Amino acid sequence: MLNQGIGSWPTRRARKAPDRTAVVHDGRTWTYRELHGRVVRLAHGLRALGVESGDRIAYLGPNHPAFLETLFAAGALGAVFVPLNTRLTAPELAYHLSDSGSTVLIHAPERAEAARTAADEAGVRHRIALEGPDGPGEGALSYEELPAGAHAGELLDVSVAPEDPCMIMYTSGTTGRPKGAVLSHANITWNSVNVLVDTDLTADEVTLVVAPLFHAGALNMTCLPTLLKGGRVVLLAAFDADRVLELVEDLRVTYLFGVPTMYDAMAVRPRWGTTDLSSLRTLNCGGAPVPARTIAAYIDRGLAFSQGYGMTEASPGVLFLDREQTASKAGSAGVPHFFTDTRIVRPDGSEAGPGERGEVLVQGPHVMTGYWNRPGDTAAVFTDGDWLRTGDIARSDEDGYAYLVDRVKDMYVSGGENVYPAEVEDALLDHPAVAECAVIGVPDPVWGEVGRAVVVLKPEARAGEDDVLDHLRGRLAKYKIPKSVVLTGRLPRTASGKIVKSAVRDIFAAGPAECPQP
Ligand code: ATP
Ligand code: MG
Repeated sequence: MLNQGIGSWPTRRARKAPDRTAVVHDGRTWTYRELHGRVVRLAHGLRALGVESGDRIAYLGPNHPAFLETLFAAGALGAVFVPLNTRLTAPELAYHLSDSGSTVLIHAPERAEAARTAADEAGVRHRIALEGPDGPGEGALSYEELPAGAHAGELLDVSVAPEDPCMIMYTSGTTGRPKGAVLSHANITWNSVNVLVDTDLTADEVTLVVAPLFHAGALNMTCLPTLLKGGRVVLLAAFDADRVLELVEDLRVTYLFGVPTMYDAMAVRPRWGTTDLSSLRTLNCGGAPVPARTIAAYIDRGLAFSQGYGMTEASPGVLFLDREQTASKAGSAGVPHFFTDTRIVRPDGSEAGPGERGEVLVQGPHVMTGYWNRPGDTAAVFTDGDWLRTGDIARSDEDGYAYLVDRVKDMYVSGGENVYPAEVEDALLDHPAVAECAVIGVPDPVWGEVGRAVVVLKPEARAGEDDVLDHLRGRLAKYKIPKSVVLTGRLPRTASGKIVKSAVRDIFAAGPAECPQP
């Protein structure tokens, strides 16, 4: 047996400290020995169904121990794990299943209907349902009763090399159709090593995972490094601010990972002031910069954030801002992880100087080798040898700390000046009546392009085009101020909640419109 992949992690952990707690969920606890046992059983069950090395196994469901069991069992078989976003519709699921060529789909009972439709359409061979009140349902096998055949309870005799594919993780689809990033066992391992080197995560960690595991931030930055180190992972099925506060106090949580809106929601709950947060050592926040008011609310309680910037293609960690720097480098996404190199380059590929904006390129042993079945996209995303183009614009300060500016695709040019919509959107969101907004460039005979702000007002709020634009005057240079404002009821978003700028452009380029319901 030479399994050098992550499928061997529960077994290796069980050899070292079998009785330590690995996973906590819904009041139940699994030790590393139990986790290893369940992974081996599932791997044998999947093998009995004919799963072989290289096959793809998809998983659809909220945070649950079965998510991790499936990931590790796939790894034990040399198969490839395909985590799916629970907010995808049935047609979107069918696309992910057929694009990845998944032959098995394991799913939670609450998505049985969509899972069945999508699996049928995509020609998935086996559908396996987790335990639910109504049994597995027609055409599905039961996860808990999978016949595993006779086995000795040992890891399977399958050879897995570090460079073999471990998972196909889909990008969010913010700039186009979601693409499957193929992440190898080595990619995932090096990402975990970066986390362990750059944070003080220990074997005594109690890590509460409140963000969905199907995103690389929760799974690869939080859950897997904790399990690699031998710590304890607490899984919460869905984010609920009160429940998180309760769990932090009851389970003495030490490490919490979330996105800014989650931290915001916790700080305004009535029980915020009375909850004992003294066990928390690390608050990590990813996906977007943490707003100053959120940082202040937590500093008041003696807690500071570490923050990160990353992308699915990089497994995902790229930049990291340690909590010591949260205040002195406010707004920065930090410096590259230990085994990560980044460059900021001009459009012609030459190095941008300090303060100058350019595209971020990244290289490191955690960067994917390519997209699944998309040689054209793979060729286009790498430049200058092995440098991955992130599609994000940033500038760095004299100390090398990077500040994210916007996506390359969202920038537009007005009268020869680059406009970064994210900066205009930040200023718009300061307006008390504005709930959401997106700024796009639209064609203009004089300026080439001019800005258009598409704005969703808060319920009950009243504001006209002039109020909104007046708010920007004096805050932003004239060329950055949109020439028109469109008020609308909602903005198009991806299944992970990000605004889809290309759809905003399609819907609102001609003027006032309503975004269709998803
Ligand atoms: P697609 O690649 O399909 O268009 P996506 O880029 O949104 O979708 P993800 O890999 O989930 O898919 O997201 C990575 C992107 O999220 C980054 O490229 C960046 O634009 C944004 N991002 C991540 N972290 C931060 C951060 N700390 N600050 C600002 N933006 C961030
Ligand atoms: Mg992307």
